Amino acid sequence: MLPIERKKQIEKLICEQEHLKISQLSKMFGVSEMTIHRDLAPLIAEGKIIKTFGGITCAQSINDQQKNACVYCYRDYQKQLAYRIILKDHTSEIACCAHCGLLRYRQIREQIDQLLARDFLRQTTINAKKAFYVLNTSLQINCCQPQVLTFEWMDHAKRFIKGFNGDIYTFQEALEIVVNQMAHDK
Ligand SMILES: [Zn+2]
Ligand SMILES: [Zn+2]
Repeated sequence: MLPIERKKQIEKLICEQEHLKISQLSKMFGVSEMTIHRDLAPLIAEGKIIKTFGGITCAQSINDQQKNACVYCYRDYQKQLAYRIILKDHTSEIACCAHCGLLRYRQIREQIDQLLARDFLRQTTINAKKAFYVLNTSLQINCCQPQVLTFEWMDHAKRFIKGFNGDIYTFQEALEIVVNQMAHDK
């Protein structure tokens, strides 16, 4: 099989099965894992597939499906709260919410290139390190405790807490608070 054809088939397979291991693909096509890695590199660069722990997954399915597990707590996450972690090796991870995003950041800080959060009101992707973090709000988002919501603008965060209470923190402050609270709960 021509490499270009194999590449196409791999892409199709991953998006049909959602998740595959490199070793599975290597067996299926009767080529080495190195070759599979080489086939995958352009697909990853194009953003068609995403490398995950122990395998690869279809980028499309991450956007379309509700059923995906958080990298930290393994809870299913919803796109509206997802916290995306881009690593220096160009792979990415998704946490169910800012709470898990912060805890994951603490675990693998050195490997992280970018952190992307969702603006809670506008539903846009924002730079998580510059975001404003709202804790102790009365609004229940049904994800992890303590709840952490992110906003791009201080003004929106302020208006939000007028209606739903809460306190506003920077990235660093929120990180410390969540890490400390989790340590005490254990
Ligand atoms: Zn989580
Ligand atoms: Zn969560």
